[in-house]
Amino acid sequence: VERTLAIIKPDAVHKAEEIEDIILRSGFAILQKRRVHLTPEQASDFYAEHYGKLFFASLVAYMSSGPVIALVIAKDQAISYWRELIGPTNTIKARQTHPDCLRAIYGTDDQRNALHGSESFTASEREIRFFFPDSII
Ligand code: ATP
Repeated sequence: VERTLAIIKPDAVHKAEEIEDIILRSGFAILQKRRVHLTPEQASDFYAEHYGKLFFASLVAYMSSGPVIALVIAKDQAISYWRELIGPTNTIKARQTHPDCLRAIYGTDDQRNALHGSESFTASEREIRFFFPDSII
């Protein structure tokens, strides 16, 4: 069993119950959950790898615009399976190519894409620690 970090981003928090149902029905266990309103500093830190990109400032503004829900979810191959379930980064494109993916359903536009999933084991460890600093990995 593998763990990954999922985030329900500000534009989809009003659909959190529905999304959590889908997570459970897809065979994940929800190990930890936390609702948190990130400061711009915390959002910048979380997305530090994107520092310097054209969309960095608006990404930080979006991610600190309202509460998010961070979830540690677990399942065999959780990292790749969750990324597959949420679909392509750009919601508009996702609606054309992967209409059943969660970003196509719950996302807003090319940036506000409803959900996050760690992209690798190393990223998942860092991101779980970011939101759940007391958790034992
Ligand atoms: P996440 O890390 O949130 O799961 P991802 O791995 O699919 O998403 P990244 O390339 O890591 O995508 O980008 C992080 C986030 O930055 C995206 O989820 C999206 O909200 C935003 N983003 C990425 N590319 C763009 C872009 N070209 N224009 C605007 N926003 C973008």
